[in-house]
Amino acid sequence: MAYDQNNIFAMILRGDIPCEKIYEDEYALSFNDINAQAPVHALVIPKGEYVSMADFTLSAPEEMLSGFFRAVGETARQLGLEEDGYRLIVNTGSNAHQEVPHLHFHILSGKRLGPMLCR
Ligand code: AMP
Repeated sequence: MAYDQNNIFAMILRGDIPCEKIYEDEYALSFNDINAQAPVHALVIPKGEYVSMADFTLSAPEEMLSGFFRAVGETARQLGLEEDGYRLIVNTGSNAHQEVPHLHFHILSGKRLGPMLCR
């Protein structure tokens, strides 16, 4: 799948539309989800044109892969989630209902989330 330069997260990365930033470094940007599904709902996106987890792990350079994963951990740390825990969700492709075609990790927390759902 070709990368769509006009997807909403590409626009956020370009600064065309605003976000509630949590953390940023040279590899990643994290911000609050606009439609929170839990008291804490953050998104972490890589700074590059990666549609999905499959695309990212195939085509991103090693430095980007490690830098991005560190940024996910750092975002959770900055949100103070280490002690009580959090859930990561990465929707990939149509079966997982991925809506935005730019790789993103959801970080969910702020309450007991219960068992993982596959409804
Ligand atoms: P997914 O279904 O995994 O592709 O998730 C896309 C997520 O992006 C949803 O949770 C949306 O609420 C979120 N989202 C869409 N537009 C924005 C935006 N402008 N700022 C923050 N989050 C957004």
